[in-house]
Amino acid sequence: MDRDDVPYLDATLPTAHRVADLLGRMTLPEKVGQMMQLDSREDLDDHVLRKHVGSILHTSPERVLRAQDLTTRTRLRIPLLIAEDCIHGHSFYEGATIFPTQLGMAATWDPQLVEQVARVTAVEAAATGVHWTFSPVLCIARDLRWGRVDETFGEDPVLIGELAAAMVRGYQGDGLKDDTAILATAKHFAGYSETQGGRDASEADLSRRKLRSWFLPPFERVAKEGCATFMLGYQTTDGVPITVNSWLLDEVLRGEWGYQGTLITDWDNVGRMVWEQKLQPDYAHAAAAAVRAGNDMIMTTPQFFEGALQAVEDGLLAESDLDRAVTRILTLKFDLGLFENPRRPDAERQRVMINHDDHVALNLQVARRSLVLLRNDGVLPFKKGKIAVVGPLADDAQTQLGDWAGSSGQADWLPTGHPREMITTVLDGLRELSSQEVTYARGADILTLEPDPEGDTFPDGQPRPKIVQPCAPDANLIAEAVAAAEDADYVVAVVGDQIELVGEGRSTATLDLIGGQIALLDALAETGKPLVVVLLASKPLVLPASARNAAALLWVANPGMQGGRAIAEVLHGLVEPSGRLPISFAAHAGQQPTYYNQIRGQHGSRYADLTQEPAFAFGEGLSYTTVEYGELHVETAVLRPDETVRASITLTNTGSRPSRETVQVYVSDAVTSVSWADKELKTFRQVDVEPGETVKVDLELPVAACTIVDAAGNRVVEPGEFVLLVGPSSKDLRRAEFTVKPQF
Ligand code: BGC
Repeated sequence: MDRDDVPYLDATLPTAHRVADLLGRMTLPEKVGQMMQLDSREDLDDHVLRKHVGSILHTSPERVLRAQDLTTRTRLRIPLLIAEDCIHGHSFYEGATIFPTQLGMAATWDPQLVEQVARVTAVEAAATGVHWTFSPVLCIARDLRWGRVDETFGEDPVLIGELAAAMVRGYQGDGLKDDTAILATAKHFAGYSETQGGRDASEADLSRRKLRSWFLPPFERVAKEGCATFMLGYQTTDGVPITVNSWLLDEVLRGEWGYQGTLITDWDNVGRMVWEQKLQPDYAHAAAAAVRAGNDMIMTTPQFFEGALQAVEDGLLAESDLDRAVTRILTLKFDLGLFENPRRPDAERQRVMINHDDHVALNLQVARRSLVLLRNDGVLPFKKGKIAVVGPLADDAQTQLGDWAGSSGQADWLPTGHPREMITTVLDGLRELSSQEVTYARGADILTLEPDPEGDTFPDGQPRPKIVQPCAPDANLIAEAVAAAEDADYVVAVVGDQIELVGEGRSTATLDLIGGQIALLDALAETGKPLVVVLLASKPLVLPASARNAAALLWVANPGMQGGRAIAEVLHGLVEPSGRLPISFAAHAGQQPTYYNQIRGQHGSRYADLTQEPAFAFGEGLSYTTVEYGELHVETAVLRPDETVRASITLTNTGSRPSRETVQVYVSDAVTSVSWADKELKTFRQVDVEPGETVKVDLELPVAACTIVDAAGNRVVEPGEFVLLVGPSSKDLRRAEFTVKPQF
């Protein structure tokens, strides 16, 4: 084709002109295909040459090249969008930098750091030919039994919004023309995490007011930040799958927020309406419903191709209905400049950029900052003495990476995970950094797997997770660990969960440490040796007394490739612990939910047999020093809705080590026209306080942020009395009152 005669190939023309020209040349099957994203592990020839797909996902580097070569054999040579879940690093590219999971990153409470993680991920992913990542996750984690808690930024909408916006900036860099920029995806829009009993993708029983109150604000935040794409969740709400929920998609997202980006379904959402939710009689009706609801890209529903063609033939859809979606997808491709440069994998860039030294250094920094010290009777940091390292996760490199990485199950080209030598386990880290002797005993096994009697796959051919059988405590393993403990001055027990208990379709009924782990901890506690429990768990678990009362307790989520080194540094006091919980820890699974910002009003405040107090609350985390928060001063106590609350508080480091404090600012609205949370995080600031130093921290909070969502669903500031609450965690707060008077 001669570029000069073909407007869509002319890079000097405006995008809209090029899109219109190309659209005018496309046949109906080419348009339908352009709306499809299929799994590259299947028949690539069929995807590209017969179905004319617009995008592929889960693509090994070799298959990216093959698929791109295939497009040169297509009539219009429309480049493919290459998509992957690069959600805490370039997950499935062998040897890429794998960071702590999103929940681990959230414990840093540091948007700038999270932005850098996303930038580095984009640089690595872009070098391998990936254009689009399905990250960040903006779901609010409210039921700890859910298997995908690790993918979230925790339980608070403000923290989620800040960190997600930072990630979007990092991925999309200086704009889509920059060839290190990748498209970000806000997912899973919206309410997917509000499961029933933690069961993945079950009906989310959410009123519109509840959605507007807590679930939608983080998405609105990233829509305004320019997040290029939104992914729609799996669940139904009010009986309607989110994929075809016109209130959410048309009225709220496209209407109120004016969102112009691209919408992608989640995996086979269109097919699920037929075979799982039984809401559509066939693929023609399902395709028509999905297109009419405003979806642009249909993920992994191969039957969408015939279904959409049939829908047009049957008059369920007009060809022009497809044009809107195809226009959006082509616009993205032109905006990325793919027609001029399809951004193929670049071997030289990969050699230089993948796991670059700066990326390794950043990873270590994030891992350090993600560790949350929950208890310390003074045993930490370690002084001299022999260390016994025990526990099934002390030397489990791949578990440390968490879900969506290497061998976690979504990609099949890394069966043994990321290279072992790139990962520092806790045992490696302690061996490297300890001048004293370090011994090791495994102590317990966690689980074995059994096939599901319902079959190896779901009706759509996707693998069905195997069934977990907890291992019984093993007396010999425990005896070895106890012997190691008795022969040492300190015991570090690394316990937690592993991939078979984490992820899609892998929610857990309990939150317990399973297998031989509790028996191991109990036996270690009985030795009387100072016990440091390192909880390497994808999500908050319920801990036995032997862990809750241990000399020290450190939660490390899944801390990524540098996790073991970071943990060893913290245990030895080479760096200060500074992470704060982005999510509450329950004392018992039956307390669910335990999130801090619950609605006021119930009979009493406890169960007959248990309090409702979480074991550890949102925002908690210790340092190796003590910091006293002084009195909270509000400058002007009476304000109008358009003014800003200005306040200050002094922090005094009364210990002998430095601290990075996360000063958390909450608001309580004294009387509200509708039921509301007793307190809500509004903003936070991180400050460094040196030993002996007193620092005055100035805080600013626009009154406009002190909102509730009223009975009509409007977000409003209701004039009246408020309490500003400032402190180191949601359960340790200084108070100062202020009044908001009506605007006029
Ligand atoms: C998940 C998404 C993911 C997609 C593609 C789905 O099963 O819910 O979060 O982006 O698969 O891998």
